[in-house]
Amino acid sequence: MCGIVGYVGPGADERALDVVMEGLARLEYRGYDSAGVALVNGHEVATAKRAGKLANLRELLAEHPMPPSSTGIGHTRWATHGGPTDQNAHPHRGGTDGKLAVIHNGIIENFHALKSQLLAQGITFTSETDTEVAAQLLAIAYEEAQDLTAAMRQVVNRLEGAFTLLAVHADA
Ligand code: GLU
Repeated sequence: MCGIVGYVGPGADERALDVVMEGLARLEYRGYDSAGVALVNGHEVATAKRAGKLANLRELLAEHPMPPSSTGIGHTRWATHGGPTDQNAHPHRGGTDGKLAVIHNGIIENFHALKSQLLAQGITFTSETDTEVAAQLLAIAYEEAQDLTAAMRQVVNRLEGAFTLLAVHADA
């Protein structure tokens, strides 16, 4: 069972990382194999993720501090598609402009067919997860809709399975 946390604070509130990490710590009891966070940082989204315990992610954050932010998402993963590696840990990015990140709880059952379609369109993947398919679909849908909620609705209509998705986009 993974954990999934999102936080949107007022503009001047830059506590997103602390709030999200505290949320993930509270969800640790559910069990997980990797952890990661994404924070909106001006015109891009910064991410940090690590296989293993939250302590590993904390270590990474101490070595490479993230920018202050008022909007963030965090994830503890229980791998279903792809092994418990840094690369497969969430968040996953969609598109190539560094503006979109997605975390996901559950399984996208039709990910294989969707991934084949995306590969045929020339989209490249950096993980073995079903999640990255949703991230790439969302990037394409956002490009057209320019509205994150509308784009997410479109994507979810194409996904089969039981899941929760959280996304942040630097422009939304
Ligand atoms: N199916 C996704 C993965 O393997 C999410 C698993 C989860 O719920 O943590 O990355």
